[in-house]
Amino acid sequence: MSAPQDECPTAGATAREEVDYHSGFVAILGRPNVGKSTLVNRLVGHKVSIVSDHPQTTRRRITGVVALPGRQIVLLDLPGFQRPFDSLTRRMQAAVDDALREVDAALVMLNAVEPFGGGDRYVLEAVAAAGLPGLVALNKVDLLDGRRLGERLDEARSLAGGAAVHAVSALRGDGLGAVVDELAAAMPPGPRYFPDGQSSDQPLELLVAELVREQALRRTRDEVPHAIAVEVGGITERKDRPLVEIEAFLIVESESQKGIVVGKGGRVVKAIGSAARSEIETVFGVQVFLDLRVKVRRRWRRDERYVERLL
Ligand code: GDP
Ligand code: MG
Repeated sequence: MSAPQDECPTAGATAREEVDYHSGFVAILGRPNVGKSTLVNRLVGHKVSIVSDHPQTTRRRITGVVALPGRQIVLLDLPGFQRPFDSLTRRMQAAVDDALREVDAALVMLNAVEPFGGGDRYVLEAVAAAGLPGLVALNKVDLLDGRRLGERLDEARSLAGGAAVHAVSALRGDGLGAVVDELAAAMPPGPRYFPDGQSSDQPLELLVAELVREQALRRTRDEVPHAIAVEVGGITERKDRPLVEIEAFLIVESESQKGIVVGKGGRVVKAIGSAARSEIETVFGVQVFLDLRVKVRRRWRRDERYVERLL
C-alpha cells in the first residue's frame, strides 16, 4: 500500500507521462473593463458551462479552454478581481496571493488607454513574488497611434519588471498569437482536462473520471498498474445550494486489487477520494461531494465493450 504522496513533487508522474500532454491553469488578471472577457472569448475554443452557473460562489472560475495540439490552457477568472484594483483591501490581496499559488501562469492585462494604478503594480508584484511565468498584455492598442503606443509600451515594460509585454487588441485579435504561444510554452506536463472539441455529450463525466483515475494511479502505482478504471455514475447539481454531487466507482480486476485500493480501514480510497474531490472542485469552481467506491469487475480490460464505455 502506498502512502498518500502529496509531499512528493513528482507524485502523479506516472499518470501524466503516459499521455505526454501539457496542460495547466492560467489566471487572467486585470481591472474591470480592461478587456478580459473579450480576450477570453477570442482565445477560447469552447466554453465551459457548469462553472458559469454559480459565478459568485466559486473559488476559481473557468472561463474557457484553449485547446492546442498536445496542450491545453485552462483560463481562470479569479473571483474578487471584479472591483477596481486601487481599492484592493488586505483580504483581496490575500485572495490574489492564494489564487496565484494554485495556477501555473498568470496573464496580467493592462489598459493602454488609461493610466496604470497601484492595483496594477500590486498584481504584477504578486505574480513575480509567486515565481510564476507572468506575461503582460497591453490591451486596446488599436485606440493609440504609433507614437503614443511606443510611450505606453515603455511605461508598461518598466511597470512589468522582467515580464514580457505584448501589445494586443483583444477586440481585433491583434497580437494574440504571441500571447498564446508564450502561455502554451509555460504549461507543465498535465492531463487533458477537457475533451478536445467537446465532441462527447458527456465531457464532465470524462473529466471527472480522468481526475479520479489520476489520483488513484498516484496512490497505487506499483501495486495495481493500469488495472484501475473509473466509472462515473452520476453528476448532479443541487438546486438548493452550490454543490455538485458525484457518484464514482474505481473498477479493479480482483479482490486482492480491491484490498489494495481500499486500504486498511478504507484509508487509500479515502485519500484518493479526497484528493480527487479537491481537484474536481478546483476545475469546476464549485463545492463537490464525491461518493467514491471500489468495485471488482473481473478482467474488465478484456471486455472491449466495457472499456469502450469507460474511455
Ligand atoms: P472585462 O471587464 O475586463 O471583462 O472587459 P470586457 O471584455 O467586458 O471589455 C470592456 C469593454 O472594452 C468592452 O466594451 C469591449 O468591447 C472593450 N474592449 C475590449 N478589448 C478591446 C480592445 O482591444 N480594443 C478596444 N477598442 N476595445 C476593447
Ligand atoms: Mg468581464
